Amino acid sequence: MGGLHKGHQELINKAQNLKKNQSSSVIVSIFVNPLQFGPKEDFTTYPRELEKDILYAKECGAEAIWIPSSEDIYPGGINSNFQVKAPYCLTSKLCGAKRKGHFDGVATVIMRLLSLLKPNVLILGEKDWQQFIILRQLIKDFNISVKIETVATLKERDGVPYSSRNRYLNGSDRKKIAILSKSLTQSGNDFFNGKQPNLSQIKSKLSNIGLHVEYLEIVEPYSLKSLNEGKQLSLLAAAVHCGNTRLIDHTFLMNRNPIVAIDGPAGAGKSTVTKSFAEKTGLIYLDTGAMYRAVTWLIQQEKIDPTNTTALSTVLENLDLEIKQTLSAEQRIYVNKKDVTESIRNPEVTSLVSIVAAQKLVREALTKQQRSIGSKGGLVAEGRDIGTSVFPDAELKIFLTATSLERAKRRANDLKSRGYDAPEIDILEKEIKDRDEKDSTRKISPLIKAQDAIEIVTDGMNIEEVVQALIDLFRDKVPKEVWPNS
Ligand code: C5P
Repeated sequence: MGGLHKGHQELINKAQNLKKNQSSSVIVSIFVNPLQFGPKEDFTTYPRELEKDILYAKECGAEAIWIPSSEDIYPGGINSNFQVKAPYCLTSKLCGAKRKGHFDGVATVIMRLLSLLKPNVLILGEKDWQQFIILRQLIKDFNISVKIETVATLKERDGVPYSSRNRYLNGSDRKKIAILSKSLTQSGNDFFNGKQPNLSQIKSKLSNIGLHVEYLEIVEPYSLKSLNEGKQLSLLAAAVHCGNTRLIDHTFLMNRNPIVAIDGPAGAGKSTVTKSFAEKTGLIYLDTGAMYRAVTWLIQQEKIDPTNTTALSTVLENLDLEIKQTLSAEQRIYVNKKDVTESIRNPEVTSLVSIVAAQKLVREALTKQQRSIGSKGGLVAEGRDIGTSVFPDAELKIFLTATSLERAKRRANDLKSRGYDAPEIDILEKEIKDRDEKDSTRKISPLIKAQDAIEIVTDGMNIEEVVQALIDLFRDKVPKEVWPNS
């Protein structure tokens, strides 16, 4: 809508970074949309500084600036065209509760802008979170072929998010708004350390300094459903009036960093794609299969029968299983200080691991260690039971699979590349099916797709395509503000 500032600069920079080739261009549209202002709102006074905005947008890297007239967007007047109605479940909350029709106006103008311009990518700021959620659904529901990319809210030095309306504030108003932003940030930090935000206390603090609180609410970030208290990944959002100026701000509540669970059968390519996904997102990579393999290796070294619980419990009590992350997001495994990273991949370990992994004592010990590694989050773990048992509250759960034939072919290539003889494909396929059978029928934590997991069948997809699909799904579930990398 114009009134460009550094927050917009971030959006333009993002567009520049995403540009894959010279045939695409970064276009900034500036249009103050009459349809999204209520009768008593600031449509006539909204900052309009076209000359300044044009210069600024160019400096930031815009290659074209599109400034349509009202007639371009709404030929014949604003009541002569189709309009879009946003779903009540999303508009009845937060800003929409008071600003009746506002999001219908936003949705309508975005439909017009997208259909006139037909961009490949639409870049939105997370600052207007409810708007982003509504537009995301609009694009999905109407199957519009444009990819949404978001940019985390940029804040000024006093913690106030950049906003065109900030220029309405005088010095003392500005200080009051900064107190709102600080209270939200503080609530986010407290929540991370286990303390629920005290909404009534924050409201009275804000009222006491002369801010009128329109709402201060905790909601589930994607459905915007109200929550009585903060849960892992919820949104604490506020709108306040400072004199005649209405401003919004928010923070995400998380008691740990995000966790991604990637489960699936043997040979589905989990390790390769998870490693690359970890590198691209900066999440810690945890290969839990390697932990089961490490215990199997030790059992084989010590010539123990894995079903002998007495012997097994002694081994587990004395087990020192260390997982060290190298700089290239590689994971090296040490058993009682010995680096076993390569040895645990040998075919003897592979043939016994499913039997070892089915033992209650082994599962208990390794699940405990995995949960401790993930206690602060910031990790992607791959295995068989991550989404169902180890981290059932993971933000994103993926079930990565492929047909058994495809998996057998991949396993053969993998064995060959590591210098082993690869058996015939049908023998490998049978081995894989046997391991699937053992893993999915065992009593404790069998390999099954978690109810809320997203299944990706990777036949016919290359590694980059799978990794990109994972990143897109991660971005659907985790705001940039919470985890900026990827
Ligand atoms: O993934 P990878 O093939 O290295 O896993 C080896 C074996 O470890 C699996 O076949 C399964 O028996 C076991 N496993 C498990 N639970 C996990 C990860 C692996 O039971 N979370």
